[in-house]
Amino acid sequence: MSHCNDKQVNLPPVLCIGDFPANAHALLHARFAPVSLDDIDRDHALRERIGAIVTRSNYDIDTALIERLPSLKIIATSGVGFDRIPVEFARERGIVVANTPDLLNAAVAELTIGLMLALLRQLPQADRFVRSGAWSKGAFPLGSSLAGKRVGIIGMGRIGKEIARRLAPFDVEIAYYGRTKQALSHEWFAHPAELARWSDILIAACPGGSETRHLVDAAVLDALGTRGVLVNIARGSVVDENALVQALERQAIAGAALDVFEREPLDTSALFAFDNVVLSPHIGSATHETRLAMAQLTIDNVVSFFTTGKAITPVILAAR
Ligand code: NAP
Repeated sequence: MSHCNDKQVNLPPVLCIGDFPANAHALLHARFAPVSLDDIDRDHALRERIGAIVTRSNYDIDTALIERLPSLKIIATSGVGFDRIPVEFARERGIVVANTPDLLNAAVAELTIGLMLALLRQLPQADRFVRSGAWSKGAFPLGSSLAGKRVGIIGMGRIGKEIARRLAPFDVEIAYYGRTKQALSHEWFAHPAELARWSDILIAACPGGSETRHLVDAAVLDALGTRGVLVNIARGSVVDENALVQALERQAIAGAALDVFEREPLDTSALFAFDNVVLSPHIGSATHETRLAMAQLTIDNVVSFFTTGKAITPVILAAR
């Protein structure tokens, strides 16, 4: 549902970067009739009038593009991560960046728990086992229980908390690492390696970007240990993928479930060689319901900005 009565608002031309799923695409095109990069390359007058960019969190918005758009006022991304948008550069030019927090928490938490269970119970292999007819020749190897495990969450933010909340009925212990100790009943660890040493299952749920690059490195994976598994739904950059491949080769950890990668889309990877790795193609928020809600909030952010001067959910950089 739209947050404001936006029909009368006179909007400047909107530039769309990236592909949106069909339902979100239809919504965006009905409201904005957005133009493309090709359109502004062809038409300089149009380029100079672009007031808003709508995009998704897996596309780069570079500083050169922002400099080519003298009327740009808002970059609205359909996603919560903004590691591919130069937020500080935009802020210095008075350009607002808005994202779509919270309304994807449930979808990402559901996928995280799905990946954990797929890894522990070997669900992709079990499916192949049945389809191949191997069942009639012998029993499927035993998996591991989730119940009774220690789950460590790197990044106890909106999504981290939703994962913790939804894990409660699974009868697990939960602890977390973040830069700040929060007023939570879960134990806090001051270093990711300490959390990894405590954990059976280590989940990365923090933002990407330079500050968290390779937060999960060889030392953290070694601390996780031979019975530990890694789940990454954060950003590919958070995990040192070479160190992860080496840890899997050395059998220094028991397995990994990954939704995000250092290079996306992933067409070939050393990770494909491991049977104790479950892979998904960056689909944390990829449900019809969630992507539609994200597209609507993206639209509402732009319309609200040009109506009231304020986006509904602007990105606010924390002062540290
Ligand atoms: P959020 O509410 O801002 O939470 C981020 C958490 O990470 C906070 O608890 C923060 O705690 C911690 N953090 C931030 N910087 C850190 C650092 N340098 N070192 C350690 N911890 C740090 O964000 P959210 O809405 O939960 O989203 C988290 C991330 O999930 C997004 O940024 C995105 O990358 C990822 N995501 C992935 C998908 C997918 O499709 N797989 C979908 C949506 C989101 P402190 O400030 O105390 O450190």
